[in-house]
Amino acid sequence: MNTLEFDQRRLALQAGDFMRCGKANCRCKADPPSLHGPYLHWTRTVAGKTVTRSLTAEQARCYQPWFDHAQRLCELLTELQASSLRAFLDAEG
Ligand SMILES: [Zn+2]
Repeated sequence: MNTLEFDQRRLALQAGDFMRCGKANCRCKADPPSLHGPYLHWTRTVAGKTVTRSLTAEQARCYQPWFDHAQRLCELLTELQASSLRAFLDAEG
């Protein structure tokens, strides 16, 4: 029953993360810190493992339609699962 459950965020683009880097004397270590970003992250699940890739704003613009379609597909699958469950419970109790 759970095989059709998708985490929609896994296929979506996450925006707005600010980060510190690994350099010792960087502005992100200053007081007050000036963090890097915001970075866009594309998070997916591949063979059960979370894979995250940082994207530039230009890459995000370019591939946004793919992310939007993937998210819509997940929403439709979730609706289909809910509808089939309702139909089953209506008929079978
Ligand atoms: Zn830094």
